Amino acid sequence: MDAKNNFEETFRTTEEWDGNDHCDPPIINIVSPIEVTIPSEVYEGQIFHNKEDLQTAINGWSISQNVQYINSTSNKTRLTILCNQHNNVHRPYYWRLHASRSKKLCGLWKVSCAGPPHTCTQPVIPGGHHNCTSKFICRHIMPIIKQQLDMKSKEIIARMESKFEMKISYMKAWDARRKAIEAIFGSYEESYRSLQRFMEVLHMSQPGTVYNVDLVGGSRFKAIFWAFGPSINGWQHCRPVLSLDGTFLLGKYRGTLLAAVGIDANGGLFPLAFAIVESESNDSWVWFLRNLHDLVEVVKERQNLCIISDKHAGLVRGCREIFPQAVHRHCLRHLRENFKKFLRRQGIVDVEGLCNNMYLAGSTEDSASFTRMMEHIKNAKQEAYDWLIQRDVSKWSLLFDNGCRYSIMTTNASECFNGVLKRARGLPIQGLVMSIYYNLVSLFMRRSTEVDKWMMDAESEFVPRTMGILHRTEREARQCHEPIAINRGEFKVVDLASKTQKVDVLTPEKCACTCNKPQLHHFPCVHVVAVAGYRRWNHNAFVSQYFTLNSYKATYSGLFHVVPPKDVWPNFNNLTGIIHLLPPTFRRHVGRPRTTRFRNTMDEAQSSSNKRRGHCKRNGHNRATCPYNPASSRYYR
Ligand SMILES: [Zn+2]
Ligand SMILES: [Zn+2]
Ligand SMILES: [Zn+2]
Repeated sequence: MDAKNNFEETFRTTEEWDGNDHCDPPIINIVSPIEVTIPSEVYEGQIFHNKEDLQTAINGWSISQNVQYINSTSNKTRLTILCNQHNNVHRPYYWRLHASRSKKLCGLWKVSCAGPPHTCTQPVIPGGHHNCTSKFICRHIMPIIKQQLDMKSKEIIARMESKFEMKISYMKAWDARRKAIEAIFGSYEESYRSLQRFMEVLHMSQPGTVYNVDLVGGSRFKAIFWAFGPSINGWQHCRPVLSLDGTFLLGKYRGTLLAAVGIDANGGLFPLAFAIVESESNDSWVWFLRNLHDLVEVVKERQNLCIISDKHAGLVRGCREIFPQAVHRHCLRHLRENFKKFLRRQGIVDVEGLCNNMYLAGSTEDSASFTRMMEHIKNAKQEAYDWLIQRDVSKWSLLFDNGCRYSIMTTNASECFNGVLKRARGLPIQGLVMSIYYNLVSLFMRRSTEVDKWMMDAESEFVPRTMGILHRTEREARQCHEPIAINRGEFKVVDLASKTQKVDVLTPEKCACTCNKPQLHHFPCVHVVAVAGYRRWNHNAFVSQYFTLNSYKATYSGLFHVVPPKDVWPNFNNLTGIIHLLPPTFRRHVGRPRTTRFRNTMDEAQSSSNKRRGHCKRNGHNRATCPYNPASSRYYR
């Protein structure tokens, strides 16, 4: 089977990425019309396009008849097959079939003789049908895989069962899926081999695109970092916030995808840069940040940059050293998971309750409720309180954040990775990059069409999400008591909850309220809107420019272009550094492959994967699973 790299055909059916519709698709049992057809009979004089079609037909027919055969002769021009019981003395007349490539028929394959009727049916074939190979299964699932790249092994098993009433093993199904993926995208090894040609053509066809391939020993793949030009341009119009996270990849060479993701004006995720590395280690995060700094200038030059991530040691160190002027904040959801583990270790009964208190403390703007939540935790368990204080409240709570994180509390990792990787988690590396490319193309298309519509309606200068909040705030502000001016820039406002707040307005950009909301959200609170109404100022001036339709439009104004076909890719050339690459040394574990569960960094005990091992000074494994040790058994060699 030749790899055609027909990405377009495969990705054409890409759905909306915002929905999580890729999760657990229903098991399909209908027979698709594009599927390879199984003949009801194989007879003398029958003609096939090629040998592969002939073999698939005989295969399918034998399986449906519950009879088995073996190949006697099989070469480029002839095929002879016999009943697998041809040695049985009780059956002197066994079934046989001859077919050959016919010159008269311009190379078509013709069955020259077949018979007598193949009747030695075995009701239950122990150990599965001999002729039901993974190659045969691959032929059958190929049309479905093209539409559904993440087709699961259990779905393949269900499909074969419904069609042939035959149970195949999990490994056979998995192998068939791998074969189908390789037929579409090329083999996993070939995908690494021509990776630099592929990245170079992306770099040339998508202006502004940057990439860096890290090698070991001159030509073995270690890691790749890249960012598409339109993403780089677009991110400048988003809030100066980047969240960083990683997720596991599947497929023959496992690896991990790292990503830096921004947030657009309307609160949508905006992927900026990616890397594929062996695993989330200190070194790989530092390498990622180094590339982000050196290759993506808009990040290096960005004022008030805020990086949100989990507390991975490599990230903490990398941010401090590589982006010293940026502030580093922690993802509240990751912290909650770590807090939960800590509480369990402490033997606390009400783990959920304390976690909720912690989450509320982290996401409130109100200092009184922050204090109340923290007191509650302190009364329940002093150690839990100390644990949170040690983690620096400015790093995890909105209240002490100084407005750096624009009220973005979590990294939204799973949403992002499901969006860009939808169905592509197990593809060869070029397929992975192309999947991200196509998902970004459709994201840009959809959102730039959307903003044109919003601008036509021209209800407001802000994106719908901001407009909604603003309308609510206006309604509430109208019900406030009239503000009292203390001096030209200082006001007293009593709100609906009968709370008194002090509003300070130096300039619209520098306004503060004792409710903390304007400083933290970059968005006017009820009290500021009330003051603006009282002084007849336009309260829109108090909203950050990052929430305008113009910013949103600029974010998605970059243009992606068609990726040229393989025959015009730059050639291998030692002078330009475009060389053949070897696949990485990291590989899938032997054993039942798992593709069903979404995993992210929270599932992994980080400490164990970062320990340096004495026997080979490499990360993430022990002596028995060492991929560099020929005696270890758990890795494919
Ligand atoms: Zn037979
Ligand atoms: Zn306020
Ligand atoms: Zn080792």
